[in-house]
Amino acid sequence: MKIRAIQTGTVEVKKNQVIGKGSGVGRLVNVLFGREWVEPPVPIYAWVIEHAEGIIVVDTGETARASESGYFPRWQPYYKLAVRFHVKPEDEIGAQLKQMGINSKDVTKVILTHMHTDHAGRLHDFPHSTIHVNMPEYKRTRGFQGQIDGYLSHRYPNWFIPQPIQFDGGTFGSFESSWNVTSKGDVKVVPTSGHTPAHVSVIVNLEDINYFLAGDTTYSEENLHRKIPDGVSPDPNQAIETMQNILSFAKEHPTVYLPSHDPNSALRLKAKQTLSVS
Ligand SMILES: [Zn+2]
Repeated sequence: MKIRAIQTGTVEVKKNQVIGKGSGVGRLVNVLFGREWVEPPVPIYAWVIEHAEGIIVVDTGETARASESGYFPRWQPYYKLAVRFHVKPEDEIGAQLKQMGINSKDVTKVILTHMHTDHAGRLHDFPHSTIHVNMPEYKRTRGFQGQIDGYLSHRYPNWFIPQPIQFDGGTFGSFESSWNVTSKGDVKVVPTSGHTPAHVSVIVNLEDINYFLAGDTTYSEENLHRKIPDGVSPDPNQAIETMQNILSFAKEHPTVYLPSHDPNSALRLKAKQTLSVS
């Protein structure tokens, strides 16, 4: 088995998104109208797990279309004020898999940590795969409220039918439930509510190390240690609880923590650098 990081471009976000500021609706206002941007732009990672049971992709990254004017709804204040994507066609996950010699037909499963655009932006590259989503997350993308929350369900391919994540695998470490993605049990999904209410993470066990594909549970390892919720989580306290849960897990099991937007995630993966929890 092998895990690879795929960087699908970069994104500029506000400092107040990475480190949430204020309370209640004020947190989002601080993201929208904050003046300082994170410098340099942060990476957008997706992950490929080359497993004996088939290739598993975690998140699909962003599309190059994100740089086109009119791709995002113009009335949506977040896209207008608080985010700038830099994705070239060759950065898209499908193009990069091809470069690696991986045919999209060989990808058996795609797992989405959540459905924000920079994680679900290239579902189009996986017409032959089973795409697993935590169903409450998928439901959240639907309708007008979904659009207000920034989901782009009108951009999903018309063949897209999400398959549920069934949390029938019992507890796993500090996590109250889990789902075995592989029959061997070495790839699991665990609930990591916070950044979105039905956010999930993927844990890959390889040579006694747990690679924690964390999605947006935090934007960096430092923010996990400091338990800093981001500025867009609807429930910052829930986000903190999940961070505590991850730290408890890492205390018991050697864990390499890999958030989607941490500039050091790929380096930590390569170096097998585990979290130190005191
Ligand atoms: Zn997100």
